Amino acid sequence: MPFLLEDSLTQHKQAGLYRTRAVLQGVSGTQRLYGGKKLISFCSNDYLGLSQHSDVIKVFKQTADEYGLGSGSSHFLGAYSRIHCELEEALAEFSGYPKALVFSTGYMANLSILTALANRHDSIFGDRLNHASLVDAARLSGASFKRYKHNHIPSLTKQLTDSPGRKSFVVSDGVFSMDGDLAALPDLIETAKNHSALLLVDDAHGLGVLGEKGAGICEYFGLKPDILSAGFGKSLGSFGGFVVGSETIIEHLTQFSRPYMYTTALPPAIAKATHTSLLLLQKEDWRRKKLCYLIEHFKHTAKQLELPILASQTPIQPILLGGPERAMKLAAHLRQNGFLVNAIRPPTVPKNTSRLRISLSALHSENDIDSLLERIAIGLHRA
Ligand code: PMP
Repeated sequence: MPFLLEDSLTQHKQAGLYRTRAVLQGVSGTQRLYGGKKLISFCSNDYLGLSQHSDVIKVFKQTADEYGLGSGSSHFLGAYSRIHCELEEALAEFSGYPKALVFSTGYMANLSILTALANRHDSIFGDRLNHASLVDAARLSGASFKRYKHNHIPSLTKQLTDSPGRKSFVVSDGVFSMDGDLAALPDLIETAKNHSALLLVDDAHGLGVLGEKGAGICEYFGLKPDILSAGFGKSLGSFGGFVVGSETIIEHLTQFSRPYMYTTALPPAIAKATHTSLLLLQKEDWRRKKLCYLIEHFKHTAKQLELPILASQTPIQPILLGGPERAMKLAAHLRQNGFLVNAIRPPTVPKNTSRLRISLSALHSENDIDSLLERIAIGLHRA
């Protein structure tokens, strides 16, 4: 057995898919310190820079003074506090749904929904580019699970038509996490409705970014799926996740979802700081406006430099490169020149679509973006 494990590690390395973790030594704005070297990071999902907001940090410290570090137990065993309850009320109001439920991570929120609502008699249909947590959730539920072509409604419709007589769920990312494009929400809602399926959308990357007040994909399209999930680790600059839906759906999740029941509740200091962050997201809307401006600036400059970008209108801006080695080489070239950018390879993205995944933040400057893109153009020219 140990030999087999070593073999698979060797094969993984030979395929150019081995992952290493750089050791982070410090953070200041968009700068990260690794091995004593300062790099401008384009890797963070902290799209609005709220993780470093002084009000958020102050509230976090004050609440930790009052409640300690960890929550100490699961929600049903005493850890569900006034702070968790108020955060849920604020999330429901902000998202425009009757009720919200807070989870310890966004990954667990997705696992919870499908494992609590679907079983082996049901069918789940998921976009081929959905986040891993939605894929794992579908598999863990025991339901029949099919993946339809990315954002391709005829492919989804055919699958739904071919599985009549079962309870069906359609699941999709709102903003696709590796491509940055948006789900075809109006078509998904109509198709799910026509087939009496429940629609779940994961808006981890849309919250705080899309819509006039940053409420996400629902606000952008003026439409709501049956269930919406998202994480606190992106625009809210925090940690954790949540689900919003009808009273009945949320009550069902509260009663039956194992990743909700059998885990330690989110620390109160995190919950309170997340609530503060949610208020700041609304109050300081200059952050989202600046981010939108920077996204346009990035796309315009990248097009001028003829870089292979995708059609993304979000802070997730991929540069498509093909093979994993090419992506790794370009990421290394950027690191040598002061920029931290992730090379994304299979299995996170489909074969032959390795890429640089650039994440923009309201804390970046135009100059940061111009310098990065110039460096990418030079690196591509050499590769
Ligand atoms: N959904 C999507 C679309 C994500 O990108 C992520 C995290 N990258 C998650 C869910 C999981 O969220 P968390 O990190 O809070 O577990």
